[in-house]
Amino acid sequence: MTATTPTTSAPTDSTATASTTVTHWIDGAERASTGDAEQPVFDPSTGEVIGAVALGSVDDVDTAVASAARAAESWGQLSLAKRAGVLFRFRELLVAHTDELAALVSREHGKTIPDAKGEIGRGLEVVEFACGIPQLLKGELSDQAATGIDVFSWREPLGVVAGITPFNFPVMVPLWMAPVAIATGNAFVLKPSERDPGASLFLARLWQRAGLPDGVFSVVQGDKVVVDALLHHPDVAAVSFVGSTPIARYVHDVAAAQGKRVQALGGAKNHGVVLADADLDDAADQLVAAAYGAAGERCMALSVAVVEESVADALVERLAARARSVKVSAGDQPGAEMGPVITAAAKARIEGLIDSAEAEGATLVVDGRGYVVPGYENGFFVGPTLVDHVSPEHTVYEEEVFGPVLDVVRVSGLAEAIEVVNANPYGNGTAIFTASGEAARTFRRGVKVGMVGVNVPIPVPVAWHSFGGWKDSLFGESHVYGPEGIRFYTRGKVVTQRWPHRDAGPAAVSFHFSGDAQK
Ligand code: NAD
Repeated sequence: MTATTPTTSAPTDSTATASTTVTHWIDGAERASTGDAEQPVFDPSTGEVIGAVALGSVDDVDTAVASAARAAESWGQLSLAKRAGVLFRFRELLVAHTDELAALVSREHGKTIPDAKGEIGRGLEVVEFACGIPQLLKGELSDQAATGIDVFSWREPLGVVAGITPFNFPVMVPLWMAPVAIATGNAFVLKPSERDPGASLFLARLWQRAGLPDGVFSVVQGDKVVVDALLHHPDVAAVSFVGSTPIARYVHDVAAAQGKRVQALGGAKNHGVVLADADLDDAADQLVAAAYGAAGERCMALSVAVVEESVADALVERLAARARSVKVSAGDQPGAEMGPVITAAAKARIEGLIDSAEAEGATLVVDGRGYVVPGYENGFFVGPTLVDHVSPEHTVYEEEVFGPVLDVVRVSGLAEAIEVVNANPYGNGTAIFTASGEAARTFRRGVKVGMVGVNVPIPVPVAWHSFGGWKDSLFGESHVYGPEGIRFYTRGKVVTQRWPHRDAGPAAVSFHFSGDAQK
């Protein structure tokens, strides 16, 4: 197989526009569903329906996986140099089309344009990592491991692998998976979120224009029906999932029971610890951006400030002032710092959790309920919300809010802060703000969390490290992208090899396992 001829023209026909239904991408082309199920896609800033998404069937999954299986046969045999060439071209196209893609993401998701560009940039990093696949897949050789015997090992692709992704990063999360899966020689079937499906087809067209053979990247739109069909399909060798904890647990358990390799990343409750010696203005700036950016709809959002009591009043005062001044508007409005949440149901749920905080005795310092953005009265907006005197028993603390709500938990010092972080069932990310290297070291060594920031609020690892949480934030062994991603999408093979020496007479033979004669 050779990669198809790339082009660099714009994927103008790829966006989810009003009145269109976002369909599947199978065998290198848009394909309608076999059934007629679909659901609306909204512009969260206006509350208007801007299109629809097809909800695929078991038949659609079968068609996509069959196409992927055919494509995987030859793609996995293609030289590393040719595969890397496709990745490099995809990288160029992604850079060239960032503005269009960011506008599409902002429209369907609601996040600001700079934030959408930011997520594309973080996905691009993984593409660039995967461009190094010839180096990343270099095997190992033990020359003369025993007399006349060489041993060498390398890793081979799995075949067809699936990715199931959440709404909050419709570009970045698919790009945590697909570039690594494809670079390692697999065919990748994506099941994106049905709430903002347009980016998946945009990416599909870019892959095609980069020269990726048909069937190596496919998209099946849909909901649980499609997910279950992928989890049960005998030709899907591995499943990568990112989403909420209950679904992550379900996907992990079902896929593992089917004998599949699975990595399932779940939800989070990320604590930002502020010690008394921290620069409080800097900590407040960082916390506000990390709590309210993307309307709190980030798995690495800091949703809890754990503050040393002696500086808590001073910090809360700073947080409140900043929360009140966040510029909330539609994602495409100049200067907007925060957009709406994804759906009317999400808005109602978040406001219900703020109700519960008030009813359960926490102190509502800044209340984002009933927030109205002039000109966008029907948008799904929740204003920045700050809740003080939160304790771990409060519902607003127990639940992953996934909205612009920052809880403040007051503690006596570092030891209690670490206890609070570790008592939480999630373990995705955390951060500490301090001027003390000693305290930071104690914290980073003591917390049972997968990703830790020291004066860095959202410590999403760069692409050549791997991303993943602990405890209820990850089910399965493997983190995504980086070195763990390479291992996840491949399996090892080892050859032990001897070439008989004609002049040396017959080789020594032993009836005993690993006999001395071989050494
Ligand atoms: P979600 O769990 O509702 O959906 C994720 C995916 O699962 C979607 O593709 C969806 O169609 C599918 N799905 C939903 N319900 C299902 C069911 N019953 N059976 C099978 N499949 C189902 O998550 P979401 O609301 O789209 O995304 C937000 C969640 O994702 C948050 O909890 C957030 O923390 C988490 N998240 C985690 C990470 C991480 O790296 N750990 C990253 C991003 C988002």
